Amino acid sequence: MLTIALTGGIGSGKSTVADRFTRLGVPILDADVLAHALTAPGEPTLEEIRAVFGPGVIQPDGALDRAALRRIVFDDPAARRRLEAILHPRIRVRMLAWLGEVRAPYAILVIPLLFETGQSDLADRILVVDLPEDEQVRRVQSRSGLDAAEIHRILATQASRAERLAGGDDRIDNSGDLAALEAQVKRLHHLYLDLAQPVG
Ligand code: ADP
Repeated sequence: MLTIALTGGIGSGKSTVADRFTRLGVPILDADVLAHALTAPGEPTLEEIRAVFGPGVIQPDGALDRAALRRIVFDDPAARRRLEAILHPRIRVRMLAWLGEVRAPYAILVIPLLFETGQSDLADRILVVDLPEDEQVRRVQSRSGLDAAEIHRILATQASRAERLAGGDDRIDNSGDLAALEAQVKRLHHLYLDLAQPVG
């Protein structure tokens, strides 16, 4: 089965693009959704995070305090690597298991930090959702109310626009309106169906 990795920076439009492919019937698995599932209360992965980062990252109700964990790893690359070493191999295992079960001409893995975490080998093709950084900042601001300085700090931890474009096979330019985005999704859908092996 043809496997596409969908990536892009914060606010570039990954979820919006993924939603349009879902409407076309394409199976999609999102690494962030898997990360949430793996860190639900009672999950062994959450216990491991508690053992490494301390009880301060667990809320009184037993759920992961994502904001507290984000604060710890944000300015501490070593802590960030420890967290990634816990999460990424497990996310990868679940993605591969899912790919083994899905039956469709092609499937999409949404991997926001594809380049940052060296997972480009998971897919046959890489689709980059592309947006100029100033527009990324504007859209994240209107979605979340984060201030511009905070968004710039997040952007600084992610691959640059140029790095993503250099590493991708296909690109969706999401600087236009939603109709323009949908037209590009449809064009790529047909490309991927053409590239896919017939289901047998
Ligand atoms: P990501 O998943 O990459 O963080 P989203 O898909 O959530 O990005 O998009 C970020 C924000 O921008 C959302 O509020 C979304 O509704 C909005 N958005 C996405 N594409 C467009 C577009 N073409 N025009 C205007 N707003 C958009």
